[in-house]
Amino acid sequence: MDSIKIKYSELISDLKKFLKQQNEITNVDFYFSKINTNEVKIKNNTQKKIFNENWKNAKSLNELNTLICDCIKCSLSKTRKKFVFGVGNENADIMFIGEAPGADEDEQGEPFVGRAGQLLNKIFEAIQFKREEIYICNILKCRPPNNRDPQLSEVELCIPYLWKQIEIIKPKILVSLGRIGAQMLLNTSDSLTKLREKIHTYKDIPLIVTYHPAALLRNPNWKIPTWEDMKKLRSLYSEIKLKND
Ligand code: SF4
Repeated sequence: MDSIKIKYSELISDLKKFLKQQNEITNVDFYFSKINTNEVKIKNNTQKKIFNENWKNAKSLNELNTLICDCIKCSLSKTRKKFVFGVGNENADIMFIGEAPGADEDEQGEPFVGRAGQLLNKIFEAIQFKREEIYICNILKCRPPNNRDPQLSEVELCIPYLWKQIEIIKPKILVSLGRIGAQMLLNTSDSLTKLREKIHTYKDIPLIVTYHPAALLRNPNWKIPTWEDMKKLRSLYSEIKLKND
């Protein structure tokens, strides 16, 4: 019989990748224990708290927060300082959706509290929105190390929590701060420029896409188009209020 030569290091590398995927799917930790140079034992850590799916039945934001705040579905649970659920009125008309917590948010457990958050507050003031009319959260509830972009696998694992937040709040308008929220909710890979061209809908809720405040801090030239988007938001909101009052 022909023998197939496989390098030991390649075999271990492939096996590690496979177990990492299994960990993401099952939330169970697998790890290697070296017995000697030629033998590898795989242990399944069943002692670890298994994350359950009861959160899907949550009836309020508080209940949802309590059920998911110990989430260990992705590796960001190992590096976060605080879980960042979201903040605002449970009956808010407008829901702003960012991408992921940054360093200040990770420290304080609240979204948009750093410089980007201060800018967002100024935007709310400029378009005369009161905080109680608004709910703010991110797609990812835990900070990616060094503020790197969220990875697709992390977003896929975390976004069901956002869907549930939207289901509970039932906002009249969604605003995606940055392209990632809109791309994930609309299942598209369109660029931010393209996404800004029109008002979209997610489950019959109008969705407006604009720049992330952190991007505005990096490039102040984007403040003008953001202002245009916010005027569009203000007028859509007035239109919806008028119909409902
Ligand atoms: S980022 Fe989301 S999926 Fe990952 S651990 Fe945090 S809450 Fe869970």
